[in-house]
Amino acid sequence: MRNRRHFLSQFVLGSVGIGLTPLTCSKEKSVSNEPLVVTTWNHKETNKITLDALNKGENALDAIILGIRKVEADPNDMSVGYGGRPDRDGHVTLDACVMNHKGEAGSACFVRDIKHPISLAKAIMEKTPHVILSGKGARKFALENGFNETDLLTPQAKKAYEDWLKEGKYKPIINIENHDTVGMISMDKNQNISGGCSTSGMAYKIHGRVGDSPIIGAGLFVDNDVGAATATGVGEMVLKTLGSFLVVELMRNGKTPTEACEEAVNRIVKKYDCKDIQVGYVALSKSGEYGAYAVQPGFIYTVTKNGRNEVLQSKSYY
Ligand code: ASP
Repeated sequence: MRNRRHFLSQFVLGSVGIGLTPLTCSKEKSVSNEPLVVTTWNHKETNKITLDALNKGENALDAIILGIRKVEADPNDMSVGYGGRPDRDGHVTLDACVMNHKGEAGSACFVRDIKHPISLAKAIMEKTPHVILSGKGARKFALENGFNETDLLTPQAKKAYEDWLKEGKYKPIINIENHDTVGMISMDKNQNISGGCSTSGMAYKIHGRVGDSPIIGAGLFVDNDVGAATATGVGEMVLKTLGSFLVVELMRNGKTPTEACEEAVNRIVKKYDCKDIQVGYVALSKSGEYGAYAVQPGFIYTVTKNGRNEVLQSKSYY
């Protein structure tokens, strides 16, 4: 358990109006009230944006969205949002989801022309009775709700696609090119945990493919009583094991974040051929502990809190 602060939680059974003697019950809780941000890959600047917002009193989900929007807007990040690599038909299609401390969730998947699917996911959560909107429906909802239409294919991504077309082979490369989903989990000043996840998915995927990142329980899961987890890497493996949900359930049953991520990776490795694939998990517990684990070496993650913003190397199965 790192850097957590113990504090006394007190509550008073009030006597007001009912003539009882005030009774004070106290209980020590091991919960950190320091804002904390944990993100897949190297996202120090992004985490700083989120941490600054948390320090100003922003709730975890809105702070996360501020951070993730920066990644989505960056044309040089070719795995997320604007500038993401297209599918094999040349279309950039984006996936994102959010989940908050109340267990509310929203997701936009296989959506085109919308630069900030993370904000769209939040709008879907707040303005519809549904969790997921996909494809043309998600796009239509976005345009009807004030989102602008943006051509997401940058010259850089177009060039990469044209180079790929020369051979047209789908071969994910471990840790680079295909994997850079931004999955962010965070705790705010009220010790509420939320999460967000955004990606353009696997580069040169089959048109229509949706990965783990917009699927609640796969790419992201939050249970404010326990903690949160998010994933990156080959989404098919995460989907088949419902990885982020699994990590949170394992923490509920007493595992530390790192142990829970390790067990979720083990489930994948035991069943599937993983020699050429990467999956990485990060997790955060209600007590402010965090951890990560990956299939292959090379997975890094960023942990940011006051006085600390660093990129850490995850342990791995291989
Ligand atoms: N998990 C993402 C997906 O399968 C890809 C990634 O993390 O790069 O769509």
